[in-house]
Amino acid sequence: MALKTILNYSPNFNSKKRSSKEIKFIVFHYTGMKKESQAVKRLTNIQSKVSSHYLIKSNGNIFILVPDLYIAWHAGKSSWKNYKSLNQNSIGIEITNPGHEFGYKKFSRKQISSILKLSKFLIKKYSISAKNILGHSDITPERKKDPGEKFPWEYLSKNKVGLWHTLKKQELTKSRNQKTNQKERKLFFDNLFKLGYSKKIPKNLNKRKYLSDVTKAFQRRFRQGLINEKIDQECLLISKYLLKKYN
Ligand SMILES: [Zn+2]
Repeated sequence: MALKTILNYSPNFNSKKRSSKEIKFIVFHYTGMKKESQAVKRLTNIQSKVSSHYLIKSNGNIFILVPDLYIAWHAGKSSWKNYKSLNQNSIGIEITNPGHEFGYKKFSRKQISSILKLSKFLIKKYSISAKNILGHSDITPERKKDPGEKFPWEYLSKNKVGLWHTLKKQELTKSRNQKTNQKERKLFFDNLFKLGYSKKIPKNLNKRKYLSDVTKAFQRRFRQGLINEKIDQECLLISKYLLKKYN
């Protein structure tokens, strides 16, 4: 499969090359800027100190900003399972979208088609496991919301990119907004930590706030219809399913 790309290099990467074996994750982002042109500028400006390997524009064009074997600067302080600082082991893909701050939009059909093509290409090239396809908010729940609840995780997973569940709509609707008890909420977090969300409470944050951030990150990823930071039976059900199927 030929992948059509456009070179538009960013100076923001580590000069030391990595081996292809070190590439184990894909991390999706949205750009979170009002205009696409601003986002391109920022990702390629030496002063911004940020970058990603790829940028997918609204029209579906795929820009290469940093070659895969160089470490791009997209994840920041981050953690998943026993991995810290995910930049080291990941490919970062930015997708144009104004984000929650500037009128979060649906991703365009052309973008979604490019996300799928590019992901499939990378998964095959570097043998990336479905478990290791993540969103920025999964690895930095206390800081980030991207790619957000409009990101097509369900569609992608049906095409073998990333994880999802196959729970029935009816079952989910029935358990939505149904309260959980303390023991169930503890089980929910245990499940999330086993899936990979960081257990460690970041400095300067209290436990309660952090756990609510983690809950929202989980909802943006796996229960996109309602982001309310409340752990209901639906959230618990999904977490149980994912853990059973994938751990
Ligand atoms: Zn991001």
